[in-house]
Amino acid sequence: MPELPEVQTVIATLEKQMGHPVITGIRVIYPRILANRSPEDFSAILKGQKIESYGRRGKFLLFTLTDYLLIAHLRMEGKFYYFHEPAEPYKHTHLVIELDNGQLHYNDVRKFGRFYLYQKGEEPACLRELGPEPFSEQLTADYLKKYCRNSHTAIKSQLLDQNMIAGIGNIYANEICFACHLDPCHQAGFISPDKWEEIIQQTRRILGEAIEAGGTTIRSYTSSLGVTGLFQQNLYVQSRQGEPCRVCKTPIEKTRVNGRGTYYCPSCQKRQPIVIALTGSIGSGKSEASHYLAEQGYEVISCDAINSQLLQERETLARLAGILNCPVEKLDRQYIASRIFADAQLRHQVEAYLHGRILQRIRQWIRDNENEDYLFVEVPLLFEAGWDRYFDCSLLIYADLPQLYKRLRGIRGMNDKQIEERLASQLSVEEKMARSDQAIANNGTLAQLHKSLENFVKKLPVREKE
Ligand SMILES: [Zn+2]
Repeated sequence: MPELPEVQTVIATLEKQMGHPVITGIRVIYPRILANRSPEDFSAILKGQKIESYGRRGKFLLFTLTDYLLIAHLRMEGKFYYFHEPAEPYKHTHLVIELDNGQLHYNDVRKFGRFYLYQKGEEPACLRELGPEPFSEQLTADYLKKYCRNSHTAIKSQLLDQNMIAGIGNIYANEICFACHLDPCHQAGFISPDKWEEIIQQTRRILGEAIEAGGTTIRSYTSSLGVTGLFQQNLYVQSRQGEPCRVCKTPIEKTRVNGRGTYYCPSCQKRQPIVIALTGSIGSGKSEASHYLAEQGYEVISCDAINSQLLQERETLARLAGILNCPVEKLDRQYIASRIFADAQLRHQVEAYLHGRILQRIRQWIRDNENEDYLFVEVPLLFEAGWDRYFDCSLLIYADLPQLYKRLRGIRGMNDKQIEERLASQLSVEEKMARSDQAIANNGTLAQLHKSLENFVKKLPVREKE
């Protein structure tokens, strides 16, 4: 099926070959290809219209006429043929557009292609639901993350959703997953913003290179206008079943994901655990949540614990002593806090160093546990630090203010002023809720918290291949 690069090639080739002719007549041979007009209307309207410009939206070809917009979708195997001299229709020619400089034939063996005709200025219904173009500024990691929030759809299938991104079809979805080291079955609702960013960049690179190459020529698609696409030479997985991966030499495999042929490298695109960040304000109960999840047999790690560990290691201390310009013996949490409290630049340096080290440890830990289905990382200031972009899913544990005060006064012996100060340094619960993928209220008993966590885990995607 022609996808964005092939449609782009077709429309550019038509423009080059035909220029800006006037339509002098129409022959509709197979009326069902006309989506929103009768053959009589279609013919009467188009006669006398000039093709003023050519364009593309998703996989739709756009012909802007004097007073109308003609839109074509090639679907599976639609093809245009342009002739300078009148030519006889073939067996599968369904539409002939007579021009003052030749003829344009539309052929379609499968008869799935469609033509739409709209008045200029009218909003074309067939384009209304389309998502942003791959090269559009509207396509952001934030948008994709929100679009797929908690979706269990396989990423490979999700990339085919024209309402999310317009223009990607089966071939390029396979190639994008490979380029991003993504298991095609990884659920789209559990992908980190950083990974979405990578998906956007790789989508743009692959589609851009494919447009340069004139698209991909494979069994079901040739541009039919005397142009042969060359991008098939750049394919890493598509139609390469049994051949060695171009990166790691492992044979490429083929499977079906939601009914569509899916090619992937089992080694480069190994399934990865879903990494869930657990967060919440002080006193919200996130440590209890971590504790419970660990008890249930899940792998759980805490940023605070990593931080404490790092502060006991010689390498970290030597580096911090360098930054703070003090003897190593003086370094403990309190001393560091007192030094950076009043010095924003010093604070930034210390935090940048420690955050980098913590992140390294987390990534190593994820690699060490790559066979797990889910991994939990407790990150107290997830959103404040902007760390939500590293995680596939964020789970917020929150409590109402009266509850928080009660707990912090009781268990931690803090006074109201201290509590206020601590809460003021964090985002509000409302803000955290808006930014988290899932949230659990923890205003009741420990048993209730456990029950909520159990429900959360139950709703996590189960991995399976079709
Ligand atoms: Zn590979």
